[in-house]
Amino acid sequence: MLWMTSRHLIAGSMKLDLQTLSAIFAELTAVLGALLLFSWTLNRKVQALAWWGAAYLLVLTALGIVLLAGGKASINALLLGNCFLALAYGVLYGGCCVFNGRVATVQAVTAGVVLWCLASLLILDDANMRVIVVSAICAAYSGFSAWELARRARHPLASRAVAVGLLCCLVVFNIFRGTVGFSLALAFWMALPDERWSGPMAFAMATFMPTLAFVFLSMAKEQLEWEYKQAALVDSLTGIPNRRAFFEKASALVAQRTAVSCLLFDLDNFKAINDRFGHEAGDHVLVIFARILAEHLPRGVFARLGGEEFAAMVPLGGADAEALANGIRRAFSSVDKIAQGARIDVTVSAGCATGTDATVERLLREADSALYRAKAEGRNAVASFRSAEG
Ligand code: GH3
Ligand code: MG
Ligand code: MG
Repeated sequence: MLWMTSRHLIAGSMKLDLQTLSAIFAELTAVLGALLLFSWTLNRKVQALAWWGAAYLLVLTALGIVLLAGGKASINALLLGNCFLALAYGVLYGGCCVFNGRVATVQAVTAGVVLWCLASLLILDDANMRVIVVSAICAAYSGFSAWELARRARHPLASRAVAVGLLCCLVVFNIFRGTVGFSLALAFWMALPDERWSGPMAFAMATFMPTLAFVFLSMAKEQLEWEYKQAALVDSLTGIPNRRAFFEKASALVAQRTAVSCLLFDLDNFKAINDRFGHEAGDHVLVIFARILAEHLPRGVFARLGGEEFAAMVPLGGADAEALANGIRRAFSSVDKIAQGARIDVTVSAGCATGTDATVERLLREADSALYRAKAEGRNAVASFRSAEG
């Protein structure tokens, strides 16, 4: 059975005093900080790991200053220790911003330390106020961190919700710490008005810190996996989905068994463009066409299949799909395509195929037959598949 007093934590016959618990907490914090930094050296892309590792080591520094001062820490030790604690929470928040791809400003990270230094000038002799102020700073940073991860996340990560929950617990912990500091001053019947860092608190934090570090690591791992998966589905030159992504999404659309049309685009005489203007100019033209495709199909299924070939799968009947392909063809032919100061005249041809119960492969094959006809008929044209062609 577990029960607690302010000074001791008693589990059965085991008795853990505040010093022991604090030492365990300090050791854990050191190991976790080092592990977070080590993970960062393995995945330097996730810079937040370095921030969070640093935050843990700053907590260790804060605790170390107070613990090394012995049973009765001097005012200077308390002031300095709390500076490091406020900075630790600022760095924790900075890590959350960096994790979301945002800049952690020096002002945001150090605001807590500055506030603490200013406040300590006024409340130097008031132990209760000192606890209240530093707890309020820590609670605010925990709240901002939770808000940052909850509201500004770049990717939908499952572990993010757990991190937000833990950071909210940290808000509650700090409010509790500040409030107890306050109420102890009023409760004259309590024998320990100077206890602001109690055994139960050290015990709670010794459980909490590894959990938070584990969740931070999970988030970093999940984010990397998400980014690698995205990279595997995106064409690196144009930034639009690639062939693999097209087959995944188009298969889902075709499975709905409503009328769908496949549009296959191929830039006209593209080899000549490369030969005349250079490969870089050719790349530039590919990017322009991808942009036009994305503009015409803002939430649609489209991709660069490879080379100068692009495809789209749309939930439209034959006539509407052909009209859409013509719109894209016209937009591409009229847009300015300038490379190395020269205007590049390049057009696109397209083939359309429609079906209600077809496979992606079959629709692509039929669209390719139609495209062949559009090329044969003089290019800069759209042709629809006719069953006689199959
Ligand atoms: P058609 O009108 O019949 O389609 O003629 P085309 O010249 O467009 O077709 P062809 O298949 O002969 O040439 C395609 C060219 O596309 C050849 C290749 O150099 C070029 N190409 C393929 N991928 C890329 C790329 O990523 N960047 C650039 N710049 N060119 C590419
Ligand atoms: Mg081609
Ligand atoms: Mg071509």
